[in-house]
Amino acid sequence: MNKQQLEKLEQRIESTADQQCRGNQSIRREDPITGRQVIINPLRAARHFEVSGEAPPKVTPRDNCFFCTGRTPSTLFYFDEEGQLVVEDEDKSLQAAAEYWSQPGKTPGKLGDHYGLVGALGGTTFPSEWRSRTFYNLTPALGANEPGNCYVTAVHPDYHYRDLADMPTTVVDSVIASWQVLERLALENGLVAVPFINGGRRPESGQSVSCFHSQIYVMRPPKLYETIQSRRKANGCGVCEVLKDGNFTIKQLGNSQKVWLGAYPAPARNYSLLVSVQPEKETCPARISDLTDQVRKDFAEALKTAIQMYRQIFGEIPAYNIAVRTGDVIGHLHAEIIPKTRTNIPAGFEDAAFEFSLSELPERFASLARKEV
Ligand SMILES: [Zn+2]
Ligand SMILES: [Zn+2]
Repeated sequence: MNKQQLEKLEQRIESTADQQCRGNQSIRREDPITGRQVIINPLRAARHFEVSGEAPPKVTPRDNCFFCTGRTPSTLFYFDEEGQLVVEDEDKSLQAAAEYWSQPGKTPGKLGDHYGLVGALGGTTFPSEWRSRTFYNLTPALGANEPGNCYVTAVHPDYHYRDLADMPTTVVDSVIASWQVLERLALENGLVAVPFINGGRRPESGQSVSCFHSQIYVMRPPKLYETIQSRRKANGCGVCEVLKDGNFTIKQLGNSQKVWLGAYPAPARNYSLLVSVQPEKETCPARISDLTDQVRKDFAEALKTAIQMYRQIFGEIPAYNIAVRTGDVIGHLHAEIIPKTRTNIPAGFEDAAFEFSLSELPERFASLARKEV
């Protein structure tokens, strides 16, 4: 991404800001006992929830899908079929939004009106040929008075309701390329990028729309990042330590074998995985936006492999979260993949002690998984 594209993207983000329902009701609170940071945003309780109930999810028709019908805020940028970044400049959807808000009684900040708005935008904001596109999260947790924002990256409707494990690597790769763009934007604004995926189409992952998408917060470094940073200063790189310890390794990916997939050494949930990139001449790769195209592709392949492995182990893809930690504060970029099966739920002890009890030794899981991949 060049400087000109970055400036154009900032303008695009600015010109579509009124499509989002960000509200002023969000409260930030630090848990005085554990130091955990909590954002309370009552607005989000009223948001549309497609994922609910206990039954395995049914495949919803593409015509009902908010993302696949383009009932979203305007596209900010996308990756075309050649994998090239395009900062969107259509103004059909901007005009439609302006018209919508000019109707009597429509009030920005009223959630119902924002749903009306994305309904009115339906289809006007699709690029012609694309793999993935990025737009505002309609109801982000961050309040209107906080710096940064939250964005959603959705994939082409051809892949409606497909899991990450079953998508072409080029499409997953374009999702990660979107994280690179938003990390560049974050750096430009003195913030960090926090990408994640709520996957597996089940409510335990915390997702509200089950058609595959990723999200990324551009924000001030979360408290956890400072904890990671000070541990790193005191003890050296924890990620390198895990990568060097052969007991956790499951697979190295790509021709260069630079992308590492293994068991997370001390997770909150059984069967958690770690994906990271080997250091170059003792220098830890900190930013996802610095990855070469090839390593990024291998990273995409590693995420797919991880979820496919869950399918083999559990018999189906469980709810899962992929939490990506990247940037200079983190020091060595990595993704933690956390499966959220029903037998894998932190309970009273975890809430009482904020210590996590597991039943599966990560080393044992790694050796089992090595046979699966
Ligand atoms: Zn869809
Ligand atoms: Zn390292």
